[in-house]
Amino acid sequence: MEKKHEQSEMEKTARAWLTKRGVTVRDIADLVFYLQKKYHPNLNIQECEYNVERVISKREVQNAILTGIQLDILTEKKQVEEPLLSILEKDEGLYGIDEILALSIVNVYGSIGFTNYGYIDKQKPGILEELNDKSSGKCHTFLDDIVGAIAAAASSRLAHRAENVE
Ligand SMILES: [Mg+2]
Repeated sequence: MEKKHEQSEMEKTARAWLTKRGVTVRDIADLVFYLQKKYHPNLNIQECEYNVERVISKREVQNAILTGIQLDILTEKKQVEEPLLSILEKDEGLYGIDEILALSIVNVYGSIGFTNYGYIDKQKPGILEELNDKSSGKCHTFLDDIVGAIAAAASSRLAHRAENVE
């Protein structure tokens, strides 16, 4: 294990906001496990959690978390102006900026992240299904893509590292 790094205020806030919006590191680690188990038969959940932690410790990732969650919260409070408010409330498929923001996370660990991200966005397992439940009254237009992107990036990180070990 690497030495535990000192968390910046920014990182503490990004982590706190994820928790407050109902997403734990374990939830994201479960998505990584889902994506990677067929390639790594000995994979355990702790290794998935470790890679999720490393992804969240990146500044670019924290930027995306804070920006996306802030927009979701402002949408719930109806503090976004029209026509954007209705678009974000409905999570309109043609909007696409939520995916673009999430790509800033996927980019951190290179191109195989894109494949994972596209796949998990279609399947919507685990926490992604919960975040997409429109009956909750919550807005997770940005958060669902961010969570999928963190899982995809952590999967890429895990895969690259496994390759280096072999
Ligand atoms: Mg979305």
